[in-house]
Amino acid sequence: MIRLAVFGQPVKQSLSPRIHRLFAEQAGLVVDYRAIECPPGGLGEALETLAERGGRGCNVTLPLKQEAMTLAELRSERVELAGAANTLTRTETGWSAENTDGTGLVADLLRLGLDPAGRRVALIGAGGAAAGVTAALLAAKPATLAIFNRTAERARDLANRHRHLGPVTGHGLDALASERFDLVLNATSQGHAGGLPPVHPDLFETDAHLYDLNYGPAAHPLQAWAQDHDIPYSPGIGMLVGQAAESFRIWTGVEPELEVVIEALVG
Ligand code: NAP
Repeated sequence: MIRLAVFGQPVKQSLSPRIHRLFAEQAGLVVDYRAIECPPGGLGEALETLAERGGRGCNVTLPLKQEAMTLAELRSERVELAGAANTLTRTETGWSAENTDGTGLVADLLRLGLDPAGRRVALIGAGGAAAGVTAALLAAKPATLAIFNRTAERARDLANRHRHLGPVTGHGLDALASERFDLVLNATSQGHAGGLPPVHPDLFETDAHLYDLNYGPAAHPLQAWAQDHDIPYSPGIGMLVGQAAESFRIWTGVEPELEVVIEALVG
């Protein structure tokens, strides 16, 4: 049996146990994946307990992603660049940290026929989610990646940290008026409060697509806006499944089928 977990606070709403159960069924593996509440500062102890019970790895969600990075003995370049980890894997001597959000996002974009290669891409938001996907977006070779954020300094810092990986720039929201894009990604958290990110129709080239990292009720305001403006829109449920699939691959060596799991979640 493969013992896995997700730690966070709150975590009972997490879809990860269900997603990993579906992956395990696909792969014919016996997996025990549990959602475990863990307060900030408590991850070290939680990881010790998981290791004592033979745990192979875990996901880490809010507010523990930075703590996970700090506790890990080994960190990928993507973890270092994002300043956060969402996947820990047990090694002989400690924990190895990865951030699978970017791989999950790009896998979903490819599934939807939205290959970032050669496209002009706008990323709105520069928080944890945006930081987790920037390196993978640049690895997908967009023509440009422009990051826009309410706190302009945060967007510029994020762009500067990734400059060696490709054509990335950081801006405040005022700069959103001046360019058009082929692919616009919303990585703000405004949907959770029923709000809209600062999008407007002039941002979109003809046939451009709007991808929202939010999913579920947090995605509803932007989805409705896109419908009103005839802009093709996708919510981030496929990214959620994609990032989980990359964690599952790291732990088991098996690459799950995304489509069937996404259908099970939204159907
Ligand atoms: P975060 O670290 O708290 O960052 C929030 C972002 O939203 C920041 O860029 C922030 O700008 C911006 N923002 C918040 N309120 C705003 C407002 N009123 N006006 C303008 N900008 C505002 O959150 P996160 O972890 O990056 O998550 C962002 C979203 O992505 C969340 O809704 C989360 O559910 C979703 N997400 C989805 C997946 C997936 O697998 N699909 C994975 C991770 C996250 P400032 O920097 O100026 O504060």
